[in-house]
Amino acid sequence: MPLYEFQCAQCGAEFEMILRFSESDQKPDCPRCQGKFTRKKLAQVAAIGASQTASGNASSASCGSSGSGFR
Ligand SMILES: [Zn+2]
Repeated sequence: MPLYEFQCAQCGAEFEMILRFSESDQKPDCPRCQGKFTRKKLAQVAAIGASQTASGNASSASCGSSGSGFR
């Protein structure tokens, strides 16, 4: 379920609330001043499993003999 951030226009309190998709149009009351003038901020969708492990690409190719003393 997405997590929405709201901000109260009266007291400026910011709070988060998890709403269902069917409730996403609703605006909850401010938990601080019980005001109804809350507005939705950016929705932070919890990305599950977003940790991309960029493994591989091991730079272990160190066989380059630099400066060969050819004479
Ligand atoms: Zn408020």
